[in-house]
Amino acid sequence: RLYNEVQDLKGNIRVYCRIRPFLPGQSKKQTAIEYVGENGELVVSNPSKLGKDTHRLFKFNKVFSPAATQEEVFLDTQPLIRSVLDGYNVCIFAYGQTGSGKTYTMSGPNLSSKEDWGVNYRALNDLFQISQSRKSSIIYEVGVQMVEIYNEQILFVSFDLHTLGIWSTTQPNGLAVPEASMHSVKSTTDVLELMNIGLMNRAVGATALNERSSRSHSILTVHVRGTDIKTNAVLRGSLHLVDLAGSERVDRSEATGDRLREAQHINKSLSALGDVIFALAQKNSHVPYRNSKLTQVLQSSLGGQAKTLMFVQLNPDVESYAETISTLKFAERVS
Ligand code: ADP
Ligand code: MG
Repeated sequence: RLYNEVQDLKGNIRVYCRIRPFLPGQSKKQTAIEYVGENGELVVSNPSKLGKDTHRLFKFNKVFSPAATQEEVFLDTQPLIRSVLDGYNVCIFAYGQTGSGKTYTMSGPNLSSKEDWGVNYRALNDLFQISQSRKSSIIYEVGVQMVEIYNEQILFVSFDLHTLGIWSTTQPNGLAVPEASMHSVKSTTDVLELMNIGLMNRAVGATALNERSSRSHSILTVHVRGTDIKTNAVLRGSLHLVDLAGSERVDRSEATGDRLREAQHINKSLSALGDVIFALAQKNSHVPYRNSKLTQVLQSSLGGQAKTLMFVQLNPDVESYAETISTLKFAERVS
């Protein structure tokens, strides 16, 4: 079957696919990506060239080829991000196997070069610029917060140089977001400073959490509050930027102990996320938010008037074919 179902944009959920380039120094490998179209089409070819499924077409709202720059990716995301200033709740996810470019898209490879900035720094930068230049009577306040979810545990990342590390919530439901973990920011410089401290604390706090970063979900939340100085009306919007744990399947016969437990938690939370977005796309009356910490934490920002964007990240390598197909099937289901 050449054509998988071609689906249109449904409601407030959109899916962008991004293929990372082969990395410098990698010997020129064979790619499983056969074709990238202008209108979100993607054809993947099966390396075995056997059977019926030698080529498969997928269609998303957009596909970024390996040549796409951080700037291009951001420009297609900007309108969504700006809607936060109008009081919308927006969630942006990066989904894909480890090494497919999730962190590259969300954070970028390098904070010190502006050109390399990923969606999150560009988003904050943009929100500050617009909120300060808007010719309106609304005054905006911005707060940020960093949360990790590891093994179904919610960990707040400290932005405080004096309280190194991360802490886990003691709230019985594990969900109330402590005010203390929220930091008010006034400029992009503030944000960059905070992020650096946050990243440092994250690494210090849990034994080698950065080493296992591909096995935890990392959420950067931006809260915006706008007050109209003429009417005193208040609007609130939020932006959740989520670098998901790697979606690769861990071989059950090989993984044991901690690795198996991690894999089961990741599996459970990624399927729970898929189920929630699927239910929302189908406009089901029951949305199963309660099945994972990830969906519980994001509940108020998924569904309703909220807007969701999923970056589906692909490794172009032919050896990643099986993971690529499983990633694309996940994406197809939620799009
Ligand atoms: P993930 O977070 O999904 O595990 P990374 O973002 O760490 O993957 O990307 C894996 C490697 O590929 C990193 O070295 C990263 O810099 C590189 N990379 C990913 N996407 C791109 C891209 N679009 N352009 C150049 N290099 C990229
Ligand atoms: Mg990563």
